[in-house]
Amino acid sequence: MGDLPPGVQRDYPLSRLTTIRTGGAAELFARPATLTELERLMAWADVQGLQVGVVGSGSNLLVADAGVRGLVLKLDKELSAIELDGTRMHCGGGARLPAVSARAAQAGLSGIEFGVNIPGTVGGAVRMNANAYGGELARVLEWVDVVAPAGTERRTPDQLGFAYRRSSLQSGEVVARAAFALHEASSDEVKATLADMRARRKAAQPSGIKTFGSTFKNPSDPCAEGRTAGQLLEAAGCRGLRIGGAGFSAKHANFIENYGEATTAEVVAVMAEGRRRVQERFGVALEPEVQSLGPVELPAEWSRT
Ligand SMILES: Cc1cc2nc3c(=O)[nH]c(=O)nc-3n(C[C@H](O)[C@H](O)[C@H](O)COP(=O)(O)OP(=O)(O)OC[C@H]3O[C@@H](n4cnc5c(N)ncnc54)[C@H](O)[C@@H]3O)c2cc1C
Repeated sequence: MGDLPPGVQRDYPLSRLTTIRTGGAAELFARPATLTELERLMAWADVQGLQVGVVGSGSNLLVADAGVRGLVLKLDKELSAIELDGTRMHCGGGARLPAVSARAAQAGLSGIEFGVNIPGTVGGAVRMNANAYGGELARVLEWVDVVAPAGTERRTPDQLGFAYRRSSLQSGEVVARAAFALHEASSDEVKATLADMRARRKAAQPSGIKTFGSTFKNPSDPCAEGRTAGQLLEAAGCRGLRIGGAGFSAKHANFIENYGEATTAEVVAVMAEGRRRVQERFGVALEPEVQSLGPVELPAEWSRT
């Protein structure tokens, strides 16, 4: 591999960059600060034959205990900035969604209120088609700049294959920037909406725990009879179920919590047991919402995609 480009570090622990705080280290890690720096790193990784992974806020991410081969990126500085241009917002892919919502409210702009409770970045939200309280990303997203080894390409929502918690973005494609088209509103009213959404979330979900939020997607299977993944897990007796340092939260059955020093393998074991119980009791095959980086052993039959 020879000399590393400036800013690239070896053996960088990733657990602290995730909200569940499990998993090993990245073989190589960098925090590109500009589009040019990101493009150079992607081109270098391509020449070296390295896989590229990207971490946003790590709020939906399981990192393999054995670590991650190749180059892992976390967008920084210009690539996590938020800028206003009239009723439009230009954000780096690494900008935090709650900060984007708060900034829009401050400026009297409406449309992205739903981001206030999604503890991820703009890039992670695009990749995951994140949503809350009926706000739809595709309704306000104007375009994204996607960087791949071949170069940078601008894509509009109709080119992003959005479906429930899914997009057509491939691994190795990095959302570097995004533009949101918002509309003018009373700043006080938008702020009041954010406060209301925060309060509703606080009442409904546990806070201050190490988790990646919803573990499984809500099933569309008729056997689920309209119940959410959390309701099925709860009915299957999974609330509080614990293996090693990980378990389904006592407060929210679809949230897995790291009670201390959990490993990713323990988290996966909890997922497997929850999924097995729901399958056995209701005949519903739950599909994970959480994404993985590195060799995490999620059985292939768990995913219908
Ligand atoms: C307490 C809690 C509450 C949550 N509530 C919600 C909710 O209401 N609605 C909801 O939809 N989700 C929710 N989530 C899940 C999570 O916040 C979202 O999926 C979020 O969009 C993930 O963004 P991230 O930056 O943390 O991505 P990460 O977890 O870092 O990564 C997730 C995936 O996105 C990819 N990715 C990250 N950044 C980029 C980028 N710049 N370019 C390309 N790919 C990228 C990663 O490689 C990975 O595949 C919640 C999570 C927690 C912990």
